[in-house]
Amino acid sequence: MATIDPHSHYDTDQPRTRHLRLNWFVDFENRQINGSVTLELEKPSAGFFDLDTKALAIRSAYGQNGEDIPFEFGGEDPILGRRLRLDLPEGTALITIDYTTSSEAVALQWFEPELTLGKRHPFMYSQCQAIHARTIVPCQDTPRVRVSYNAAVTVPEKLAAVMSAGPAGILPERGPGTRTFLFHMPQPVPPYLFAIAVGDLQSRDLSPRARVWAEPGMVNKAAYEFGEVEQMIATAERLFGPYEWDRYDMLVLPPAFPYGGMENPRMTFLTPTVIAGDRSLVDVIAHELAHSWTGNLVTNASMDHFWLNEGFTTWAERRILDAIHGEKASALRWAIGQKALDESVARFGSDSPLTKLRTDLKGVDPDEAFSSIPYEKGARFVTLLERHAGRERFDRFMRAYINAFRFTSITTEEFLAFLEQELPGAAAAVNADAWLYRPGMPANAPIFKSEQLDELVAAAEAFAAGELPSPQQLANRDSSELLVFLQSLPRRLDRASLDWLDQNLGLTRRGNYEILVEWLTIAAGSDYEPVFERVREVLLEVGRMKYLRPLYSALGKQARTRALAREIYLQGKANYHSLSRRVIESVMEKYSEEVNS
Ligand SMILES: [Zn+2]
Repeated sequence: MATIDPHSHYDTDQPRTRHLRLNWFVDFENRQINGSVTLELEKPSAGFFDLDTKALAIRSAYGQNGEDIPFEFGGEDPILGRRLRLDLPEGTALITIDYTTSSEAVALQWFEPELTLGKRHPFMYSQCQAIHARTIVPCQDTPRVRVSYNAAVTVPEKLAAVMSAGPAGILPERGPGTRTFLFHMPQPVPPYLFAIAVGDLQSRDLSPRARVWAEPGMVNKAAYEFGEVEQMIATAERLFGPYEWDRYDMLVLPPAFPYGGMENPRMTFLTPTVIAGDRSLVDVIAHELAHSWTGNLVTNASMDHFWLNEGFTTWAERRILDAIHGEKASALRWAIGQKALDESVARFGSDSPLTKLRTDLKGVDPDEAFSSIPYEKGARFVTLLERHAGRERFDRFMRAYINAFRFTSITTEEFLAFLEQELPGAAAAVNADAWLYRPGMPANAPIFKSEQLDELVAAAEAFAAGELPSPQQLANRDSSELLVFLQSLPRRLDRASLDWLDQNLGLTRRGNYEILVEWLTIAAGSDYEPVFERVREVLLEVGRMKYLRPLYSALGKQARTRALAREIYLQGKANYHSLSRRVIESVMEKYSEEVNS
């Protein structure tokens, strides 16, 4: 037997699944999905067949002629879940498993109507990355096994279902008061890209191939915010080759969604915190769209190679922004990313193995290892390669890379072999070894300079030294510039400086979450009481880990803000996603260390 993914029981000696047929009944009352999956194997097979499961109740398993297939569970592993071992009779090509998900399914978040925008209907969505597909369907839960799928999803009749798949019609009720949505996903995807959402959803067309879905109260705002998306798709096609997923739709989720976006194919899932009203945070869209090439088309073989997804995509996102908004705008994005990178390296320590690009996560929960490193360190490594080869030649390399590995899942070493073949000597020239296999930041990290950036950093330094800019000087700055200015300020300011900033820039009432959270992080860390209620509002509303981590960390700096953080967490805990809860709890664990020391 050979397992090749540290986070899956998939055994390379066993047949691979090539297609799934999902038959789901979404039960809001019990917060579970009931139903079955039929796995189509690549060839008729016999003997042991292992699947990943976690918190699933399996009722029965049977073959294509209805014959029972014996099965047993392996032991429970806190990270991997339980192996489901089936013993296939000779000639088995189809396996149907009847099962129910549990209220513990990490992939699913369920909302009572009060927690939605419209407050009238419940909502449910899935998040399967990194290894949570196994909590909604028994499967070979590794990117190495790509599958196409069909689904029939029965939901309460007032609600709509969307999936990371093409819609294939709506059936009248299978049970009283229900509708059944049909889906077909012809392109093979890794299981972490399975996705479903159910709620009171409406859509607006943005172009013949792009549409946005959201709750009715949000859909017009979202349509404005994402109005540039067709231009982005066309730009990305010019850079990386044809868009291979037919449609690019987007879904705006409730604010508890723990990520900025999730690149589910055909249906990017998004936090509503990117809707700033002025299209200033659409880099998240550029990022999720870029995954249509790097990540969804060419996929990491396991979480040990996650940088192949995120490093290339972060680089690609900035190439798209560069093409649409110019180099100045992308230079600021790189600067903003540098801050996140520095914070992640500091959090783990620069000698931590989690700061390598190519990781070894055997026995490590990928959600615990999650950070900006595969994104920002990865993107800087790609930039070095681009600078070494020259942009034109590197763009040709990228198109060749995507074309060579489309619809496959690869390792860092497979990438390196291809790089050596196409751009001989490039890896050695940029010291790829240090970037991929050694911790911390290599000495040859690329520098992104712009006049604008220098000015903003200088203005922040002058401000910290007591030299106030004229309010007009700052008021004329756009939101990325203002964000860089705030990021360049010290983490602790005196009361007079904080008063000045808020009075002149109206920071506490900003609707742009990047600016708002950066401001609240400085203010909370400075024990600045006027923002405490706003901090509470934001923390009770938003589940995006990118915002929770700095805010809860900042609150840890003083005794009274620590008490405030604990009180807010108790109040908000039930509505946070389990991933968000873990981030907050790990931040708050460090509070007690600070008190003890
Ligand atoms: Zn990404």
